[in-house]
Amino acid sequence: MSSPSADDSTRERGPDEVFCRDCGAVIDARAEICPECGVRQRDPPKSSVDSALDDLLEGGNPFVAAVLSAIFPGLGQLYNRELERGLVFAVGFIVASVSVMVFIGFLLAPAVWLYSVYDAYTRAELRAEELRRGAERERETEISVSEEQDDEHED
Ligand SMILES: [Zn+2]
Repeated sequence: MSSPSADDSTRERGPDEVFCRDCGAVIDARAEICPECGVRQRDPPKSSVDSALDDLLEGGNPFVAAVLSAIFPGLGQLYNRELERGLVFAVGFIVASVSVMVFIGFLLAPAVWLYSVYDAYTRAELRAEELRRGAERERETEISVSEEQDDEHED
């Protein structure tokens, strides 16, 4: 047995070095092909944007699928390569949205009508109060005017 320092293939791995996946030789971490055995260490590099886009379009990421379906129902299903499910969700969402608008209309019109009736009723009470106060004021002025006229007659 030789000491580790004597044999180059068993020397300690440096910080920027890895073992070849095939022959186990210590090679540069950035090496694409092992200089010892010629075995490719990793796939040819893609630009990070390309690989990110590939990952994104490949499907299988639950977070991306959920976000896509949150943006519009069916998009996440398309991302999962489930065209039929996507169509069902997209059409279902559109139909549901339209029915919600119709439903809101059905709710809103009677609500406005009912509120108008209620408002007319309650405001009429206020108007009656106003009229009653106005009539009282008029009577008071009439009384004071007639009193003044009485005073004039006495002279
Ligand atoms: Zn190798």
